[in-house]
Amino acid sequence: MDLKDYVASIPGFPKEGIIFRDVTPMLQNAEAFKESVKQISDFAKDLNIDVVAGPEARGFLFGCPVAIELGAGFVPVRKPGKLPREVVSKSYDLEYGSNEIQMHKDAIKKGDRVLVVDDLLATGGTVEAAIDLIEEMGGIVAGVAFVIELKDLKAADRLKAKGYNVCSLLSY
Ligand code: IMP
Repeated sequence: MDLKDYVASIPGFPKEGIIFRDVTPMLQNAEAFKESVKQISDFAKDLNIDVVAGPEARGFLFGCPVAIELGAGFVPVRKPGKLPREVVSKSYDLEYGSNEIQMHKDAIKKGDRVLVVDDLLATGGTVEAAIDLIEEMGGIVAGVAFVIELKDLKAADRLKAKGYNVCSLLSY
């Protein structure tokens, strides 16, 4: 099975000049969804993962089944104002403006081995902010996994150069 057959590419969404890679066909197809979760879980199976962290919202969709497959917990990485208890926050720059992500302050315990899972790696801003929060809480980022990587932006190279174990199932 070629998982690329289950990614829809939409030129001009959400704005002109961008090709949006849509993973909903992969989620919709039982075999493709299962295969994507299997491939990410296979990457992480020997990494002794305690917790999977997934950024809102598509990181939840792949991160949760991977967590179950690995026998790990799951923690959400969310946009501001969504988490009900005490949070830690990180801002990161975008081309125009900035974004912020939050995690519950007690989401990661010191020494926890964490796998970060998201649908897509673009500039790397989201995942790097999540990594910073996890490490500030004392977690060890043992792996970082994506369904899709946008190669030209070179974020995976940057993560690998910093010593992170990076997996992407598909690249564009
Ligand atoms: P980054 O922070 O620039 O690496 O962007 C990655 C984040 O934006 C991920 O959480 C993705 O879900 C989302 N994202 C960016 N571009 C796309 C896309 O083409 N398809 C789906 N998600 C995207």
